[in-house]
Amino acid sequence: MTARIFCVANQKGGVGKTTTTVNLAAGLAKIGQRVLMVDLDPQGNATMGSGVDKRALKLTVYDVLLESASVAEARVKSEKCGYDVLGANRELAGAEVELVDEERREKRLKQALAQSAKDYDFVLIDCPPSLSLLTLNGLCAAHGVIVPMQCEYFALEGLSDLVNTIKQVHANLNKDLQIIGLLRVMFDPRITLQQQVSDQLKAHFAEKVFNTVIPRNVRLAEAPSYGLPGVIFDPSARGSQAFVDFAQEMVDRLKRM
Ligand code: ADP
Ligand code: MG
Repeated sequence: MTARIFCVANQKGGVGKTTTTVNLAAGLAKIGQRVLMVDLDPQGNATMGSGVDKRALKLTVYDVLLESASVAEARVKSEKCGYDVLGANRELAGAEVELVDEERREKRLKQALAQSAKDYDFVLIDCPPSLSLLTLNGLCAAHGVIVPMQCEYFALEGLSDLVNTIKQVHANLNKDLQIIGLLRVMFDPRITLQQQVSDQLKAHFAEKVFNTVIPRNVRLAEAPSYGLPGVIFDPSARGSQAFVDFAQEMVDRLKRM
């Protein structure tokens, strides 16, 4: 078995991509899956949020994209979290410019991951909040996209750019790519509008909407300042339990794919 590779993407910032990536990684590890978390955002939040100091890293995903290191050389183990991390820091912001004239520039990550795919059940890629060359590398490498979204008024509208990009990547660069599902995050059932948007999502996207709903939960927001995913920081928190449920839903969904 080689790894199934998923991008966590949404071109909006602050929608819960990084929180989803690190907590799903920790949740999958908790239920016995071998996981590599790839941070494709120069902010390095997913790296720091996995207990890895981005400033201390000698090799990162930047070196992998520029083909000066392999995934096996650049990854580090997060002992506390139970998964491996291919980290990122500010250096990654330069990759966009440095890759512009290179061949196969959008397939660099895909090729690099292929060599380590047998080491994992899941590879999860945390994408930056843009449809940049970095995100394109993520989308080209992936079998599917997980889209975290808040159930707010413009949620559906904001989705159309991402859906169009995914369609184009599917048509031109990566025949495997599909939206695995939409994940409702930071959900507060007491807010009528959120319930309404959630209903609209289900009407529109049907089984593409994951059954698991991630509640708004302060423990998930506190965990990054301790350098941990909520699932590790406070396993009993409602938000943490939801992410372990989500990990199980992903495993079950893959069995049916
Ligand atoms: P993105 O990676 O899309 O920019 P983040 O995952 O960094 O988004 O989340 C944005 C902010 O919202 C962070 O401060 C994070 O801690 C907080 N947050 C994310 N998910 C939740 C949640 N379910 N409950 C409470 N706060 C959350
Ligand atoms: Mg992020």
